[in-house]
Amino acid sequence: VQDEPPSSNLTADQLLDGLLTAEFSSGSCRSRYEFASYHDKKKRNRPSHKPSPYLLAKLRRQEALQKRCGPGTAPYRAAIRQLKSGDGAVAADADDCRYLVSIPYQGLGNRMLATASAFLYAVLTERAVLIDHDVGALFCEPFPGTTWLLPPSGWFGGGFPLAHLEDYDGDSKESLGNMLKANVLSVGANGNATWSDGGHRPPYVYLHLEGRYDSDDKLFYCDEHQRLLRGAPWLLMKTDSYLVPGLFLVPSFQDELGRMFPEKDAAFHHLGRYLFHPVNDVWRAVTGYYGAHLAGAWQRVGLQIRVFNNKKQKLRHVLDQVLSCVRREKLLLDDPPSKTAASNASVVVDQAVLVTSLTSWYYERISEAYGGDRRVHLHQPSHEGRQKWGDASHNGRALSEMYLLSTCDVLVTTGFSTFGYVAQGLGGLRPWIMPATPMWLPDTGVVPDPPCVRAISVEPCFHSPSYYDCAARKGVDVSKVLPYVRRCEDVSWGIKIA
Ligand code: GDP
Repeated sequence: VQDEPPSSNLTADQLLDGLLTAEFSSGSCRSRYEFASYHDKKKRNRPSHKPSPYLLAKLRRQEALQKRCGPGTAPYRAAIRQLKSGDGAVAADADDCRYLVSIPYQGLGNRMLATASAFLYAVLTERAVLIDHDVGALFCEPFPGTTWLLPPSGWFGGGFPLAHLEDYDGDSKESLGNMLKANVLSVGANGNATWSDGGHRPPYVYLHLEGRYDSDDKLFYCDEHQRLLRGAPWLLMKTDSYLVPGLFLVPSFQDELGRMFPEKDAAFHHLGRYLFHPVNDVWRAVTGYYGAHLAGAWQRVGLQIRVFNNKKQKLRHVLDQVLSCVRREKLLLDDPPSKTAASNASVVVDQAVLVTSLTSWYYERISEAYGGDRRVHLHQPSHEGRQKWGDASHNGRALSEMYLLSTCDVLVTTGFSTFGYVAQGLGGLRPWIMPATPMWLPDTGVVPDPPCVRAISVEPCFHSPSYYDCAARKGVDVSKVLPYVRRCEDVSWGIKIA
């Protein structure tokens, strides 16, 4: 809901080439229209990744749909009444409004990727998306004149009647997989999916899209199941992943996705910049830190160091891996000055190196290694010690660091980390990715060779794709189906758009 009149005189740059609507006021959320000035692509010589006119039209349509169907409207109240009544047909007075409730979980990077995925799925299936998590404290509203937050139960305009959404899991009887197992829904020999004859249609379907989901839940990625889901007034989606590469593999979505993203490998780049605008407090931290430590440098280099071992954050071989990566790829200035620098002696050549990590140990060791070189200035905004749950200021610092990393010219990230994926995606940067050991695998203690590889695109990796070919009814190597959906550099079983 607007508190001030909309901003006028916004430039195409400030509106991210039309990605953002000018309908908001500037003061309520400074990051929305200031973001562009920290990502000056012309100055930084980055690929421009302009959003397509088709994507812009879809976003404006989605904004209208969110306003028409969102909390507080008559269709929303009708849909809530229907959900409470337990009836699964779309309400007569629902004005064609259908809903996707997104239940993101895990750390902030995971939640942002899950939210962007849910949003894109909602656009594709013409649903209003409502998010069930504490994004309200971190992000501004992306849709004008309405809210993207799921109203709490008891809210006067129609609170959401289902409680404890985070407890839904693979055992929930309302899940797509379990309803298929129980024959509440079924797919006939002709490939058509149907609700059971005369059976009671559930008022909602829960989409369980977690890392360890089973083969029935994975049928979400099949056309016939998508046709079936279209009829459900409410969908609940729980995920911690970037599902977009999986959506590209659903044949009936390919045409729309191709038109929305002619440059397919910029999907998250656009979605993230459209959706995520840090609130003023967080943005103040970003711009203040940037101005004090990064703005004046000839070049900004981001080193995102993430150790998944919760007990041991200071690992000598991870330090060696970072040093080995920056030396091998000549990313820091103790190597011979680059051609650009050498050819123009009047240019002051110095680097601001932004280190992010839960511990200050890496920052200290790298500072020692580069201490003798006055052209290299290292900075680390925070060292939180450990990941903290439900702590708004901790999450705010994590968010501000993702944004600071995204302003860098050169980025080194830790493989497997969604924190790094968000930074590279927002910035439109192809990072050097350092292979890392996930928490459930034993750490070999050895520096990988090579210590880092250049990412094939700026897109995040989808860690848990379905390997089922719905039409052929058998398993398939999903990294071989489409030329632009490939295996990730950092997760051998994951796929990404490139
Ligand atoms: P992932 O676990 O690397 O995929 O990233 P997530 O963002 O999903 O979860 C990690 C969480 O740990 C973050 O959201 C932060 O809360 C915290 N964290 C990890 N690394 C850092 C860091 O470098 N800086 C800050 N401020 N927090 C971090």
